[in-house]
Amino acid sequence: MIENNHEVPGYQLLAAHRPAVVVDASTSEDIRDAVRLAVAKGEPVAVQATGHGLTRPLDGAGVLITTGGMAAVEVNAAAGTAWVEAGARWRDVIDAAAPYGLAPLSGSLPGVGAVSYTLGGGVGVLARRYGFAADHVRRIDLVTADGELREVTAESDPDLFWALRGGGGNFGVVTGMEIELVPVARLHGGTLTFDVRPELLETWYRWTAGLPEEMTSAVAVLAFPGHHVAKVQIAHLGSGKDGDELLEPLRALGPLADEVREIPFARSEVVFGEPDQPHAYRGDNLLLADVEPAKLPALADRTAAMCVVGLRHLGGALSRPAGIPNAVGHRDAGYLLGVLSPTSPEEVPAVRARHDALLEPWSAQAVGRSLNFLFDDVDPGKVESAFAPADYRKLAALKAELDPDALFRANFPIPPG
Ligand SMILES: Cc1cc2nc3c(=O)[nH]c(=O)nc-3n(C[C@H](O)[C@H](O)[C@H](O)COP(=O)(O)OP(=O)(O)OC[C@H]3O[C@@H](n4cnc5c(N)ncnc54)[C@H](O)[C@@H]3O)c2cc1C
Repeated sequence: MIENNHEVPGYQLLAAHRPAVVVDASTSEDIRDAVRLAVAKGEPVAVQATGHGLTRPLDGAGVLITTGGMAAVEVNAAAGTAWVEAGARWRDVIDAAAPYGLAPLSGSLPGVGAVSYTLGGGVGVLARRYGFAADHVRRIDLVTADGELREVTAESDPDLFWALRGGGGNFGVVTGMEIELVPVARLHGGTLTFDVRPELLETWYRWTAGLPEEMTSAVAVLAFPGHHVAKVQIAHLGSGKDGDELLEPLRALGPLADEVREIPFARSEVVFGEPDQPHAYRGDNLLLADVEPAKLPALADRTAAMCVVGLRHLGGALSRPAGIPNAVGHRDAGYLLGVLSPTSPEEVPAVRARHDALLEPWSAQAVGRSLNFLFDDVDPGKVESAFAPADYRKLAALKAELDPDALFRANFPIPPG
């Protein structure tokens, strides 16, 4: 334990925790003791695994639990599951599962923490085939506001198990979770890079309409000064031959670069090619029932500066209820429209205005927002919009029961209600 008052940096450089106390946890007991200490001090608890999702830094008071020292992953190949400690990144899970021909439902960047990603739902590279990461959790161990370490399963505590999977870090500090792995060793995937042009987005959108669930794809327009490209991001479960047939209509548009090929799943980060170095960014999103093609050209505007506009194709297994119900909202969404800009602190207001201007025309098709793709100061309305209204009320009631004083400073707070 370190008595602190300096900044603890993470991946998101726009903010940093400045806690009164830092506990670099090595064990579940360390986490339990840290929560009890915060209760005794009457101060909040925050958790940091990697800082990718940092939105509510502690500012001078509170106990920060860092979990980077708890990154163990234990694979049970016979059961097709893994026990994942609080601070494990997807990279740790991918590498532990790969020797058995297994894979987790990880996302675009393996440097992201597995626990928080999963608590927020988790839309990964295999999403259309297997659904949300939160749909594949068997057990979650966590320390609740009463300072107790609980093993939570569908049988032991159905309401809390429902809430944790989709409701984020509002109900306690997770020490580890048991997740299901999927039998995936290889992927036909990568990117097709195009010169930006409006018809490209429409062709991609129309192409997605007839796809099997084995194909998960997205398109991103990257607008950097003097350098505007569109990347179609492909993750196909199947043979290269089948994948190549599916990709014909896109390749017919003449990509500048074609990097789609058969790869081990352990290289899945090439599909999205996101930066793994810490930087400062802001981002927002809308979950869309469907895409209106007439609005697509505005997303491919060559004049836009320093902004990544992405559309992810959802549906497939994402649209079906989880085997054991959970709090993940808006399974009816067909697409995720995300905007993300690198920014300096001074530019944040202008970046927000640009993001609002890009998203506003799509509000009529929006069914809500995805928590995991909100990268900004907390807006309570946006957090609420991630859930079905009845689910949000149920989450708030559970928060009132389990953490009435809002001890846990989750990145997406659900106030006790
Ligand atoms: C580059 C990039 C790519 C991404 N790609 C995807 C993607 O493909 N799919 C997707 O669904 N999401 C994606 N995300 C979103 C990501 O899942 C969230 O930002 C997630 O919160 C990051 O978790 P972390 O542990 O890495 O971050 P941290 O900032 O360390 O944690 C974020 C918050 O999670 C909570 N938390 C962390 N650990 C615990 C714990 N042990 N117990 C309880 N609460 C905890 C805390 O509230 C904490 O403030 C991406 C984010 C980035 C920046």
